Amino acid sequence: MTEKIFIGVAWPYANGYLHLGHIAGANLPADIFAKYHHMKKNEVLVVSGSDQHGTPVTLRAEEEGKTPAEVASHYHESHLDAWKKLGISFDLYTSTHTPNHTAVVHDIFLTLLNKGYIYKSSMSQPYCPKDQRFLPDRYVEGTCPYCGFTGARGDQCDQCGKPLNAAELKEARCRICKTPPEFRDSEHFFLKLTAFQERLEEWVAEQTHWRQNVLNFTKGYLAEGLRDRAITRDIDWGVTVPLPGYESKRIYVWFEAVIGYLSASKEWAQKTSNPPKWQDFWQNEAKSYYFLGKDNIVFHTIIWPAMLMGYEGLRLPYDVPANEFLTIENKKGSKSRNWAVWVPDYTSKYDPDPLRYFLSINMPETSDTDFSWHEFIRRNNDELVATYGNLVNRVLTFVYRNFDGKVPPAVENDAPSQAILKRSEETMKNADELLRECLFKEAIKAIMALAQEANRYLDEKSPWKVIKQDRAAAAGSLFTAIAVISDLKTMLYPFLPFTSQKLHEYLGFTGSLSDNGWKINRPVSGQQLISPQPLFVKLDEKVAEEEASRLGKVP
Ligand SMILES: [Zn+2]
Ligand SMILES: [Zn+2]
Repeated sequence: MTEKIFIGVAWPYANGYLHLGHIAGANLPADIFAKYHHMKKNEVLVVSGSDQHGTPVTLRAEEEGKTPAEVASHYHESHLDAWKKLGISFDLYTSTHTPNHTAVVHDIFLTLLNKGYIYKSSMSQPYCPKDQRFLPDRYVEGTCPYCGFTGARGDQCDQCGKPLNAAELKEARCRICKTPPEFRDSEHFFLKLTAFQERLEEWVAEQTHWRQNVLNFTKGYLAEGLRDRAITRDIDWGVTVPLPGYESKRIYVWFEAVIGYLSASKEWAQKTSNPPKWQDFWQNEAKSYYFLGKDNIVFHTIIWPAMLMGYEGLRLPYDVPANEFLTIENKKGSKSRNWAVWVPDYTSKYDPDPLRYFLSINMPETSDTDFSWHEFIRRNNDELVATYGNLVNRVLTFVYRNFDGKVPPAVENDAPSQAILKRSEETMKNADELLRECLFKEAIKAIMALAQEANRYLDEKSPWKVIKQDRAAAAGSLFTAIAVISDLKTMLYPFLPFTSQKLHEYLGFTGSLSDNGWKINRPVSGQQLISPQPLFVKLDEKVAEEEASRLGKVP
């Protein structure tokens, strides 16, 4: 039966280039999951976009001497280019700076206001006497009251992931001039999160299929007791408040950006000329999955569900498989210290699949994992080139030269050949279940173990030696190896789309491997092959030192 799968991927801010943390945390797992469901012939809608509002964008604009719109549009274009080069696909990758998004946000704001879930109140806000302005969120920095991190911001602590408000920060200072702020009263709208405490507790208790880290964080957060949160700011960049008298305020990003999942679905439906189509993925039997890094859990397991509960009639998240963090050379990534591997930099020098491979087999699913250039090159050379690439290359090259470029006749029917074919079928079933459960790391490990097993089978059979005495036996084991290689490219497609498609064509298939689906579809005897090129390039170990030495230096 065809399932309807909605995939929402966390919206990156349009205030800087994408780095490996974005890819490992949210975009790659979401893309693997989407590609898998496409192959399973399920109906999938994948949406995301650039978060173009909020103080991260205005601060960057001030630093670069540009308007927030110029900054947002520059980085949005760069994000689009990154998705293309990394093979990460969306049905729609839009932005929060569209009339459609504003209309959808206004609808949710007014509906929640009319139902009493949004109310007005005065709040004390940090104000810089020197700069003569209010200091929303990231315009204030200080020490986190929960974990003591000294670089906490007025909206959230990046160290412990807790959302904050500026008044909670110890030793608060203006981000622009470092002056301690004064607090002045300002009228704002609040989301009445306290009204959802019990409903959220009951709902979260039912989510036994969630990852343990996501459940623990969410339950812990609820146990501390929810507090109502201001959803407007004294700022002039963002979605307007749909009521007269609030022209100098904007709806704040943490409230409006999550609505992007819904507004993007509506925009996608309009673009496919079937405007009500979005409902298929937000009502009835659809399952919605949200992919994000752990610093975003609270917005997807508490705040967005509360907003949806208040609005009524739309599906709550089915799963929120949030990832932990990716460290870089064993240090926490940092934009300001330039301790990051930037996607445009990576894609200008290296192929996409080795990165997709590394971040899949080393995915921070249950604990933080590390990216080091040394380990990246080791895995590329030992695993992609020497194990998988070499298996493919030695079989296809040998067959191409010795069997007129055609798949040899199948005659070998002995126990080892039967065993490796059976193992391949079992691996496909196993990977199918693992991918369905969002266990990406385990899935790719199981698939790579099959590639190793296929190498052992070939070493044992040694068709390159056997061919001199027994051409039929050599043909049989090569036929078997080609069958396993063909299964491998199907299973690896969600992870390694570029090289899998290439291999599909080397094996003499035409058309898209993705459209071919998640199934055993092996080449037949006599099928014309294409002379293969190596799928992966060996990288020089010197590259690791060069790349690592650039970390932490201002470019
Ligand atoms: Zn903290
Ligand atoms: Zn100041």
